[in-house]
Amino acid sequence: VAAGLAQLKELPAVTTDGERVPLWVNTGLLADVERSLERGAEGIGLYRTEIPFMVRDFFPSEQEQLEIYRRQLEAFAPRPVTMRTLDIGGDKALPYFPIEEENPFLGWRGIRVTLDHPEIFLVQIRAMLRANEGLGNLRIMLPMVSSVQEVDEAKRMLERAITELREEGHQIDPPEVGVMIEVPAAVYQVKRFAKRVDFISVGSNDLAQYILAVDRNNPRVANLYMAYHPAVLRALEHIAREAQQESVQLSICGEMAADPGGAMLLMAMGYDVLSMNATNLPRVKSIIRSISMQQARELLETVLQMDDAEKIQQLISQTLKQLG
Ligand code: PEP
Ligand code: MG
Repeated sequence: VAAGLAQLKELPAVTTDGERVPLWVNTGLLADVERSLERGAEGIGLYRTEIPFMVRDFFPSEQEQLEIYRRQLEAFAPRPVTMRTLDIGGDKALPYFPIEEENPFLGWRGIRVTLDHPEIFLVQIRAMLRANEGLGNLRIMLPMVSSVQEVDEAKRMLERAITELREEGHQIDPPEVGVMIEVPAAVYQVKRFAKRVDFISVGSNDLAQYILAVDRNNPRVANLYMAYHPAVLRALEHIAREAQQESVQLSICGEMAADPGGAMLLMAMGYDVLSMNATNLPRVKSIIRSISMQQARELLETVLQMDDAEKIQQLISQTLKQLG
Protein backbone atom coordinates (compact mmCIF):
# COMPACT_ATOMS: atom_id res chain seq x y z
CA VAL A 1 0.00 0.00 0.00
CA ALA A 2 1.48 3.34 -1.04
CA ALA A 3 2.02 5.64 1.92
CA GLY A 4 0.64 9.19 1.88
CA LEU A 5 2.98 12.13 1.27
CA ALA A 6 3.28 13.14 4.92
CA GLN A 7 3.81 9.58 6.05
CA LEU A 8 6.36 8.94 3.31
CA LYS A 9 8.42 11.95 4.41
CA GLU A 10 9.35 10.22 7.65
CA LEU A 11 10.15 6.86 6.06
CA PRO A 12 13.69 6.10 4.87
CA ALA A 13 14.48 5.43 1.21
CA VAL A 14 15.45 1.82 1.69
CA THR A 15 15.06 -1.22 -0.55
CA THR A 16 13.16 -4.31 0.64
CA ASP A 17 16.53 -6.00 1.25
CA GLY A 18 17.73 -3.16 3.43
CA GLU A 19 19.92 -0.95 1.17
CA ARG A 20 19.73 2.78 1.92
CA VAL A 21 19.60 5.10 -1.09
CA PRO A 22 20.06 8.75 -0.10
CA LEU A 23 17.62 11.00 -1.98
CA TRP A 24 18.70 14.61 -2.43
CA VAL A 25 17.15 17.47 -4.37
CA ASN A 26 17.98 19.96 -7.09
CA THR A 27 17.16 23.58 -6.23
CA GLY A 28 17.36 27.02 -7.76
CA LEU A 29 15.00 29.37 -5.98
CA LEU A 30 14.40 29.56 -2.25
CA ALA A 31 10.87 28.22 -2.79
CA ASP A 32 12.39 24.90 -3.87
CA VAL A 33 14.04 24.57 -0.48
CA GLU A 34 10.85 24.59 1.54
CA ARG A 35 9.19 22.05 -0.75
CA SER A 36 12.27 19.84 -0.54
CA LEU A 37 12.29 19.81 3.25
CA GLU A 38 8.57 19.01 3.29
CA ARG A 39 9.32 15.97 1.17
CA GLY A 40 12.13 14.71 3.37
CA ALA A 41 15.16 15.48 1.17
CA GLU A 42 18.44 14.51 2.83
CA GLY A 43 20.61 17.06 1.07
CA ILE A 44 20.90 19.32 -1.97
CA GLY A 45 22.76 17.59 -4.78
CA LEU A 46 22.56 20.52 -7.18
CA TYR A 47 21.84 24.13 -6.37
CA ARG A 48 21.77 25.88 -9.75
CA THR A 49 23.34 29.21 -8.80
CA GLU A 50 22.66 30.68 -12.23
CA ILE A 51 18.95 30.86 -11.40
CA PRO A 52 19.28 33.82 -8.99
CA PHE A 53 21.62 35.43 -11.55
CA MET A 54 18.99 35.01 -14.29
CA VAL A 55 16.24 36.87 -12.45
CA ARG A 56 18.35 40.05 -12.04
CA ASP A 57 19.44 42.96 -14.26
CA PHE A 58 23.10 42.86 -13.33
CA PHE A 59 25.64 40.55 -11.70
CA PRO A 60 24.73 40.25 -8.01
CA SER A 61 27.44 41.62 -5.72
CA GLU A 62 29.43 39.46 -3.30
CA GLN A 63 27.21 40.62 -0.45
CA GLU A 64 23.99 39.87 -2.37
CA GLN A 65 25.26 36.43 -3.34
CA LEU A 66 26.34 35.75 0.23
CA GLU A 67 22.81 36.42 1.47
CA ILE A 68 21.21 34.23 -1.19
CA TYR A 69 23.60 31.33 -0.56
CA ARG A 70 23.33 31.67 3.21
CA ARG A 71 19.58 31.09 3.03
CA GLN A 72 20.05 27.81 1.14
CA LEU A 73 22.78 26.60 3.50
CA GLU A 74 20.89 27.62 6.64
CA ALA A 75 17.61 26.08 5.58
CA PHE A 76 19.28 22.72 4.96
CA ALA A 77 21.94 22.67 7.70
CA PRO A 78 23.39 20.31 8.84
CA ARG A 79 22.51 18.47 5.62
CA PRO A 80 24.92 18.95 2.70
CA VAL A 81 24.25 21.64 0.09
CA THR A 82 26.04 21.25 -3.24
CA MET A 83 26.43 24.63 -4.93
CA ARG A 84 27.32 24.54 -8.58
CA THR A 85 29.46 27.43 -9.78
CA LEU A 86 27.85 29.60 -12.42
CA ASP A 87 26.74 27.51 -15.41
CA ILE A 88 25.82 29.97 -18.15
CA GLY A 89 26.06 29.67 -21.91
CA GLY A 90 24.38 26.89 -23.89
CA ASP A 91 20.69 27.21 -23.07
CA LYS A 92 21.20 29.46 -20.01
CA ALA A 93 21.45 33.15 -20.84
CA LEU A 94 22.03 36.17 -18.61
CA PRO A 95 20.34 39.24 -20.14
CA TYR A 96 23.25 41.46 -19.00
CA PHE A 97 26.01 39.13 -20.26
CA PRO A 98 25.05 38.20 -23.82
CA ILE A 99 26.90 35.34 -25.50
CA GLU A 100 26.28 35.22 -29.26
CA GLU A 101 27.41 31.98 -30.87
CA GLU A 102 26.62 29.76 -33.86
CA ASN A 103 26.77 26.66 -31.73
CA PRO A 104 26.21 27.54 -28.08
CA PHE A 105 26.10 23.96 -26.77
CA LEU A 106 29.62 23.43 -28.11
CA GLY A 107 30.77 26.86 -27.13
CA TRP A 108 31.54 29.02 -24.18
CA ARG A 109 29.65 27.46 -21.30
CA GLY A 110 29.99 26.57 -17.64
CA ILE A 111 33.52 26.39 -16.28
CA ARG A 112 34.91 27.73 -19.57
CA VAL A 113 33.25 31.09 -18.98
CA THR A 114 34.18 31.41 -15.32
CA LEU A 115 37.84 30.39 -15.81
CA ASP A 116 38.07 33.11 -18.47
CA HIS A 117 36.51 35.56 -16.01
CA PRO A 118 38.29 35.03 -12.70
CA GLU A 119 36.66 38.17 -11.31
CA ILE A 120 33.20 36.57 -11.67
CA PHE A 121 34.40 33.21 -10.34
CA LEU A 122 36.29 34.62 -7.34
CA VAL A 123 33.40 36.80 -6.21
CA GLN A 124 31.09 33.80 -6.38
CA ILE A 125 33.43 31.45 -4.50
CA ARG A 126 34.12 34.08 -1.85
CA ALA A 127 30.38 34.56 -1.34
CA MET A 128 29.88 30.78 -0.98
CA LEU A 129 32.73 30.40 1.50
CA ARG A 130 31.54 33.35 3.59
CA ALA A 131 27.96 32.07 3.56
CA ASN A 132 29.29 28.78 4.95
CA GLU A 133 30.97 30.42 7.99
CA GLY A 134 29.72 28.75 11.15
CA LEU A 135 27.65 26.21 9.16
CA GLY A 136 30.06 23.91 7.34
CA ASN A 137 27.58 22.14 5.03
CA LEU A 138 28.78 23.68 1.73
CA ARG A 139 30.06 21.59 -1.16
CA ILE A 140 31.26 23.26 -4.38
CA MET A 141 30.67 21.64 -7.77
CA LEU A 142 32.18 22.55 -11.17
CA PRO A 143 30.01 22.27 -14.33
CA MET A 144 30.94 21.30 -17.91
CA VAL A 145 34.43 20.17 -17.07
CA SER A 146 36.28 18.42 -19.91
CA SER A 147 39.91 18.39 -18.72
CA VAL A 148 41.81 17.93 -15.46
CA GLN A 149 43.58 21.23 -16.06
CA GLU A 150 40.25 23.02 -15.64
CA VAL A 151 39.79 21.32 -12.27
CA ASP A 152 43.32 22.21 -11.18
CA GLU A 153 42.84 25.84 -12.18
CA ALA A 154 39.49 26.08 -10.41
CA LYS A 155 41.02 24.54 -7.28
CA ARG A 156 43.86 27.08 -7.38
CA MET A 157 41.29 29.87 -7.47
CA LEU A 158 39.46 28.31 -4.56
CA GLU A 159 42.74 28.15 -2.58
CA ARG A 160 43.33 31.79 -3.40
CA ALA A 161 39.87 32.79 -2.19
CA ILE A 162 40.34 30.82 1.05
CA THR A 163 43.74 32.45 1.72
CA GLU A 164 42.40 35.95 1.03
CA LEU A 165 39.38 35.47 3.25
CA ARG A 166 41.48 34.13 6.11
CA GLU A 167 43.77 37.14 5.79
CA GLU A 168 40.66 39.29 6.07
CA GLY A 169 39.86 37.56 9.35
CA HIS A 170 37.16 35.08 8.25
CA GLN A 171 36.89 31.57 9.68
CA ILE A 172 36.93 29.50 6.52
CA ASP A 173 36.52 25.71 6.39
CA PRO A 174 37.70 24.28 3.06
CA PRO A 175 34.57 22.76 1.48
CA GLU A 176 34.38 19.47 -0.38
CA VAL A 177 34.89 20.00 -4.11
CA GLY A 178 33.37 17.98 -6.94
CA VAL A 179 33.04 17.88 -10.69
CA MET A 180 30.11 17.19 -12.95
CA ILE A 181 30.43 14.52 -15.58
CA GLU A 182 28.29 15.84 -18.41
CA VAL A 183 30.42 15.69 -21.54
CA PRO A 184 31.79 12.51 -23.16
CA ALA A 185 35.40 13.67 -22.59
CA ALA A 186 34.78 13.54 -18.85
CA VAL A 187 33.34 10.00 -19.00
CA TYR A 188 36.76 8.71 -20.02
CA GLN A 189 38.64 10.58 -17.30
CA VAL A 190 36.66 9.62 -14.21
CA LYS A 191 39.66 8.14 -12.42
CA ARG A 192 41.81 11.19 -13.02
CA PHE A 193 39.08 13.48 -11.75
CA ALA A 194 38.48 11.19 -8.78
CA LYS A 195 42.07 11.67 -7.64
CA ARG A 196 41.53 15.44 -7.52
CA VAL A 197 38.07 15.84 -6.02
CA ASP A 198 35.88 14.69 -3.14
CA PHE A 199 32.84 13.76 -5.21
CA ILE A 200 31.58 13.28 -8.75
CA SER A 201 28.09 14.04 -9.97
CA VAL A 202 26.68 13.05 -13.33
CA GLY A 203 24.62 15.60 -15.24
CA SER A 204 22.67 13.13 -17.35
CA ASN A 205 20.67 15.84 -19.16
CA ASP A 206 23.73 17.22 -20.90
CA LEU A 207 25.52 13.89 -21.01
CA ALA A 208 22.68 12.26 -23.00
CA GLN A 209 22.58 15.29 -25.31
CA TYR A 210 26.30 15.06 -26.06
CA ILE A 211 26.51 11.27 -26.34
CA LEU A 212 23.53 11.13 -28.71
CA ALA A 213 24.31 14.42 -30.51
CA VAL A 214 20.70 15.48 -29.88
CA ASP A 215 19.93 19.03 -28.74
CA ARG A 216 18.04 18.57 -25.46
CA ASN A 217 15.69 21.46 -26.33
CA ASN A 218 15.00 20.87 -30.01
CA PRO A 219 11.46 19.46 -30.47
CA ARG A 220 12.29 18.22 -33.97
CA VAL A 221 14.70 15.63 -32.58
CA ALA A 222 13.01 15.13 -29.21
CA ASN A 223 12.12 11.53 -30.15
CA LEU A 224 15.86 10.80 -30.44
CA TYR A 225 16.65 12.11 -26.96
CA MET A 226 16.55 8.89 -24.93
CA ALA A 227 17.96 8.44 -21.46
CA TYR A 228 17.51 4.69 -21.90
CA HIS A 229 19.58 4.61 -25.06
CA PRO A 230 22.04 1.69 -24.75
CA ALA A 231 25.00 4.03 -25.27
CA VAL A 232 23.86 6.35 -22.46
CA LEU A 233 23.34 3.41 -20.11
CA ARG A 234 26.79 2.03 -20.96
CA ALA A 235 28.36 5.40 -20.20
CA LEU A 236 26.53 5.68 -16.87
CA GLU A 237 27.63 2.19 -15.92
CA HIS A 238 31.24 2.86 -16.93
CA ILE A 239 31.29 5.99 -14.75
CA ALA A 240 29.92 4.02 -11.78
CA ARG A 241 32.55 1.28 -12.13
CA GLU A 242 35.43 3.74 -12.38
CA ALA A 243 34.17 5.80 -9.45
CA GLN A 244 33.81 2.69 -7.28
CA GLN A 245 37.39 1.66 -8.05
CA GLU A 246 38.55 5.04 -6.77
CA SER A 247 36.13 5.04 -3.80
CA VAL A 248 34.92 8.53 -4.68
CA GLN A 249 31.35 9.48 -3.80
CA LEU A 250 29.18 9.29 -6.91
CA SER A 251 25.86 11.02 -7.38
CA ILE A 252 23.58 11.89 -10.24
CA CYS A 253 21.73 15.17 -10.56
CA GLY A 254 20.16 14.90 -14.02
CA GLU A 255 16.46 14.24 -14.64
CA MET A 256 17.12 10.54 -15.01
CA ALA A 257 17.25 10.21 -11.22
CA ALA A 258 13.77 11.75 -11.02
CA ASP A 259 12.37 9.02 -13.22
CA PRO A 260 11.46 5.94 -11.14
CA GLY A 261 12.84 3.56 -13.78
CA GLY A 262 16.03 5.58 -14.10
CA ALA A 263 16.41 5.66 -10.31
CA MET A 264 16.16 1.85 -10.12
CA LEU A 265 18.86 1.37 -12.75
CA LEU A 266 21.14 3.98 -11.22
CA MET A 267 20.97 2.53 -7.71
CA ALA A 268 21.69 -0.91 -9.21
CA MET A 269 24.75 0.53 -10.96
CA GLY A 270 25.99 1.73 -7.58
CA TYR A 271 25.25 5.45 -7.60
CA ASP A 272 25.58 6.55 -3.96
CA VAL A 273 23.19 9.52 -4.09
CA LEU A 274 20.24 10.31 -6.36
CA SER A 275 19.45 14.02 -6.65
CA MET A 276 16.21 15.14 -8.30
CA ASN A 277 13.46 17.74 -8.37
CA ALA A 278 11.41 17.76 -5.17
CA THR A 279 8.17 16.98 -7.03
CA ASN A 280 9.35 13.52 -8.06
CA LEU A 281 11.10 12.59 -4.81
CA PRO A 282 8.15 10.86 -3.09
CA ARG A 283 7.40 8.74 -6.16
CA VAL A 284 11.04 7.67 -6.46
CA LYS A 285 11.12 6.90 -2.75
CA SER A 286 8.08 4.64 -2.93
CA ILE A 287 9.57 2.71 -5.85
CA ILE A 288 12.83 2.19 -3.97
CA ARG A 289 10.84 0.97 -0.97
CA SER A 290 9.02 -1.56 -3.13
CA ILE A 291 11.98 -3.29 -4.82
CA SER A 292 15.03 -5.19 -3.61
CA MET A 293 18.54 -4.26 -4.69
CA GLN A 294 18.80 -7.81 -5.98
CA GLN A 295 15.77 -7.31 -8.28
CA ALA A 296 17.10 -3.95 -9.46
CA ARG A 297 20.46 -5.52 -10.31
CA GLU A 298 18.77 -8.30 -12.27
CA LEU A 299 16.76 -5.72 -14.20
CA LEU A 300 19.95 -3.76 -14.92
CA GLU A 301 21.74 -6.85 -16.14
CA THR A 302 18.91 -7.62 -18.58
CA VAL A 303 18.69 -4.02 -19.76
CA LEU A 304 22.43 -3.80 -20.43
CA GLN A 305 22.13 -6.76 -22.83
CA MET A 306 19.40 -5.03 -24.86
CA ASP A 307 20.04 -2.91 -27.95
CA ASP A 308 16.73 -1.12 -28.41
CA ALA A 309 15.88 1.92 -26.29
CA GLU A 310 12.14 1.54 -26.89
CA LYS A 311 12.15 -2.08 -25.76
CA ILE A 312 14.16 -1.08 -22.68
CA GLN A 313 11.56 1.59 -21.94
CA GLN A 314 8.78 -1.01 -22.30
CA LEU A 315 10.50 -3.48 -19.98
CA ILE A 316 11.00 -0.78 -17.36
CA SER A 317 7.37 0.40 -17.58
CA GLN A 318 6.21 -3.18 -17.20
CA THR A 319 8.45 -3.68 -14.15
CA LEU A 320 7.14 -0.49 -12.58
CA LYS A 321 3.56 -1.61 -13.16
CA GLN A 322 4.24 -4.90 -11.43
CA LEU A 323 5.71 -3.06 -8.46
CA GLY A 324 2.56 -0.95 -8.32
C1 PEP B 1 22.55 18.12 -16.37
O1 PEP B 1 23.07 18.55 -17.40
O2 PEP B 1 22.11 16.96 -16.25
C2 PEP B 1 22.41 18.99 -15.19
C3 PEP B 1 22.01 18.51 -14.03
O3 PEP B 1 22.65 20.32 -15.35
P1 PEP B 1 21.63 21.30 -16.11
O4 PEP B 1 20.37 20.55 -16.37
O5 PEP B 1 21.48 22.48 -15.22
O6 PEP B 1 22.40 21.61 -17.36
MG1 MG C 1 24.21 20.41 -17.38
